[in-house]
Amino acid sequence: MKTYVRRNTVRAKQWFKVGDHAAILPLNIMGPSAADACVVCGKPFSEHGSYDCDTVIVCPGDWVVEYPAGEIEIMRDKGFRRLYKEADE
Ligand SMILES: [Zn+2]
Repeated sequence: MKTYVRRNTVRAKQWFKVGDHAAILPLNIMGPSAADACVVCGKPFSEHGSYDCDTVIVCPGDWVVEYPAGEIEIMRDKGFRRLYKEADE
């Protein structure tokens, strides 16, 4: 088996709260469930965001990655940092 390296360049922003990125909306969750802890990050769902009509729940600290063709991918911090390093401007 051979080894492959991804060398694409993307625009990205780490998301922490609603307002950090226009594509991430407040997670539509109310009542007692809003205080429940997320199994991924342990923070309450009230601190989470929503991407693509609630199909992706965005944890505080996740990255919003924008590819050149315009697609957006939400990545966990660990996965993002494994693939990307900040480019020299
Ligand atoms: Zn979470």
